[in-house]
Amino acid sequence: MTGYLKQAFLAAALLFAQGTLPVRAADPMPPAQNDGFGATLWMQTSVEYKAAALGAYALARIRLDEALEDPDWTAATEQTGDFKGLPPAVVLDVDETVLDNSAYMARLVTTGHHFALKSWDAFVKDEVSPPIPGALAFTRYAASKGVTVFYVTNRPVGEKEATRGNLEKFGFPMKDGTDTVMTQDPAKGWDAFKGKRRAAIAKNYRIALLIGDNFGDFTDSFKGTPADRLKVFEADKAHWGHDWILIPNPSYGSWEQAPFEGNYKIPATERRKLQVEALSPWEPKAK
Ligand SMILES: [Mg+2]
Repeated sequence: MTGYLKQAFLAAALLFAQGTLPVRAADPMPPAQNDGFGATLWMQTSVEYKAAALGAYALARIRLDEALEDPDWTAATEQTGDFKGLPPAVVLDVDETVLDNSAYMARLVTTGHHFALKSWDAFVKDEVSPPIPGALAFTRYAASKGVTVFYVTNRPVGEKEATRGNLEKFGFPMKDGTDTVMTQDPAKGWDAFKGKRRAAIAKNYRIALLIGDNFGDFTDSFKGTPADRLKVFEADKAHWGHDWILIPNPSYGSWEQAPFEGNYKIPATERRKLQVEALSPWEPKAK
């Protein structure tokens, strides 16, 4: 093999390994692989990601100031009744909203592994996730204004203390006498849909903002096809950038399951095929 050919072959092999090689409909599907390489590189090394996160939290601070001035303001669709006199709160997701788990993702993509509950649990219990840019300053600002900061996460209840430990280690505000770290908890009926937890908070607080990286951090109608999700997104349009603040996460989320509607019972190759078919590729004009 000539030097040039060898170089081209290695480049193609690398692209294939990263899942970035274009796939034509007639090609056999590539083997299951971790597609997180580019997203993880962006989140862990780029200034562009840091700037995007900082921008979102800067907007959150402006919106919080507005919310504190307006007793009719609420971010939660679960907030009902007369909430004007309730003390204010903000509700933030944890993973990729306030804590940066890109080290876990980086380990997966560099060792050729995929997300697994066992390795994730070991990672969480190391309590090594640093703050997402802007998250610490925002939550401290909120606390300084008398706003209670709730952390509503889909981590399991067995990871609750490690989550609190990780947050406290980096100085995220906790409120004395109030349990503000709300994981999934079967004993309380708290499942992966966060609406019940938002409703529980809304009984005693006026929820000024929802901040998250995933559609489910804002609405329980996050499942279904990309078209289903788009309908919900459009219906809730007035919230985005107003009282719902999204932190970018191209690494993982409910969006990646949408093309196969979260049906993990079908084989990985079939799921990937549906994801590929969900794309809208450019078709070159006939010359
Ligand atoms: Mg998250």
